[in-house]
Amino acid sequence: MEKYICPRHDIELLKKDACPKCLEIINSVVPDAQADRLEELKFWCEEPRILTVNIGNLLERVEKLMGRPVWDLELAHPEDLIHELETNQKINFDRVLDKIKDFAPNATMIPLIVEENNE
Ligand SMILES: [Zn+2]
Repeated sequence: MEKYICPRHDIELLKKDACPKCLEIINSVVPDAQADRLEELKFWCEEPRILTVNIGNLLERVEKLMGRPVWDLELAHPEDLIHELETNQKINFDRVLDKIKDFAPNATMIPLIVEENNE
């Protein structure tokens, strides 16, 4: 079994396993203060960028830190997310769509509206 070391907690783990200390952070209450959210965002984005938790869990956490939906490819450019939070911008969904156009100028975008069925 291949192993890795969580660069933040210096714990050796099997590649298939999440770091328990990182999971503790990801499952904790999201800080209210912008400075604390920024610090945590940097924690997840800083080098070396080794995924120590499930990507879905990370994306969900980043959305909570940002206070908006985050497109998964935005994680490829964390400096933009950090800048957005640092400057306390609230970008709207049009701006997120613009980012997608920047990443994939020839992509066809199909809006998909998912309604929850609460019955
Ligand atoms: Zn860790």
